[in-house]
Amino acid sequence: MVRPALRSRSFKRVWRRTPGGRTVIHYERRKKYVVRCFICGAEINGIPREGAVMRGSKTFKRPERLFGGVLCPSCLALAIKSVIRSS
Ligand SMILES: [Zn+2]
Repeated sequence: MVRPALRSRSFKRVWRRTPGGRTVIHYERRKKYVVRCFICGAEINGIPREGAVMRGSKTFKRPERLFGGVLCPSCLALAIKSVIRSS
């Protein structure tokens, strides 16, 4: 029997073929964590989408950049330009 943490049916059971030819069960979270841009709603890259998003260091969880994990790169460029041009 698998680990108690993996017995929950909130995990999806996915059959995967290993390089050795065995078929094993992998457990994946049903809900993927998709982070979207605050302005345009585009998906932000550089953020893990599997269950590992809640674990790990701060730099692992979002891009190490101004407004990383909040704004997409194109919206950030527009925001920086508008701030600089207004000052
Ligand atoms: Zn955007």
